[in-house]
Amino acid sequence: MKKAKYIIKKMNVKLMESCKKLRDIHVLSRLVLRLAIIMSVIALGVVLFYKPARVAVFKPSEIVSSIDVKSGDTLSKILKGKGFSARDIDTLSKTLKKDANFSTLRPGRDRFEFIQKDENQPISKIVITNGPWNRVELSCDEAGTWECQKIDIVRDTRVAYKEGEILDGDSFYLAGMRAGIPAGILADVYDLLAFEMDFERDVRAGQKFYVLYEENYASEKKVDNGHVLAVSFEALRGNVQMYRYVKPDGHVGYYDEKGNGAIKSLKRTPINNAKVTSSFSTRRKHPVLGFTRAHKGVDFRAPTGTPIPAAGAGRVVARSFNRGHGNFVKIRHNGTFETLYAHMSRFAKGVNVGTVVRQGQIIGYSGSTGLSTGPHLHYEIIKNGQHVNPMTVKLPAINNLDAANKKIFLEHKDKLSGIIESLKTNPTQVVRL
Ligand SMILES: [Zn+2]
Repeated sequence: MKKAKYIIKKMNVKLMESCKKLRDIHVLSRLVLRLAIIMSVIALGVVLFYKPARVAVFKPSEIVSSIDVKSGDTLSKILKGKGFSARDIDTLSKTLKKDANFSTLRPGRDRFEFIQKDENQPISKIVITNGPWNRVELSCDEAGTWECQKIDIVRDTRVAYKEGEILDGDSFYLAGMRAGIPAGILADVYDLLAFEMDFERDVRAGQKFYVLYEENYASEKKVDNGHVLAVSFEALRGNVQMYRYVKPDGHVGYYDEKGNGAIKSLKRTPINNAKVTSSFSTRRKHPVLGFTRAHKGVDFRAPTGTPIPAAGAGRVVARSFNRGHGNFVKIRHNGTFETLYAHMSRFAKGVNVGTVVRQGQIIGYSGSTGLSTGPHLHYEIIKNGQHVNPMTVKLPAINNLDAANKKIFLEHKDKLSGIIESLKTNPTQVVRL
């Protein structure tokens, strides 16, 4: 009983409090109403007074907001951030995949633009720019149906020619930059020549080189560079020449002047532009151990963290640590060849024993783990179980041409040689392949 009374009393107090609150709310709302009336009168006056100017300023125009894709962004994350419902996101991503074959975003390259007719209207158009050559437009009609259109920007591919010479104390890299070869093309040239050359030993003052490559234009403006079409380098053991050739079936390869495959199953120098600090020898004084023992590989100078690409396609057979090699990876390429990469600071993500890697795939990062005096890559090639000198071992080509293709290739090569001669005499002319 006592308890019930207490509850009723408590309820009364609560009711009274509510009434007081209501009264307060009533007073407050009256105040708000008065204020609103005053504001409206002022606003009406302003609108009437400034009408001509206001009309000009508030001319209806599209509102465009853009988003540059950053690492970790997904299509649904970006669309959700723009207020799209889960159902809309699902519809849009399906449309994009079906009509534009667009599913993965690339950070630093892709860009979204959201277009509204005005600020009170929902987004009715999305433009996705993925790279300089592709654009996807999504438009929403009155009924709310999204349509997707893929727009390919027409590429005008021209051919450019650059030649240079190694000067005293030069590296190929310096000479290439001086010759005006764009950095990306120079890196590709390095990749190609690394199959045939030892940049430490094969580079001397007086050697000449050239590169023929593609430049892509859109509306008379250069956008980017394309492929290396031909490269030549006067190496010590003869002229190294490589020509790009696309087989009728679409396969792309590089071949020497005779039509032999220039891409070897393995690279002699896995890292571009890396100086050889110690070469292969059956006897050398070990820098850490002090006594003389064989150096079963080649050392390349590589600051800690330099990505290490696989010298060839194959399967990872070891990813481990030992006292001498530190962190190392061993790849079996075929029944004959294996390669080993030592002193890594860390392994690349997803590289484990059994992983199948492609040529050039990053397998780890250089460091100084194990018996090492400083950051470098120790690289070994093992042929039929025996260590061989990576710089001199004869490596098989992985892509040779059959007779029919060789004939077409030789004609194509002559055409490229003609273009080179023509661009040599008149470098500013516009040449298309
Ligand atoms: Zn070494």
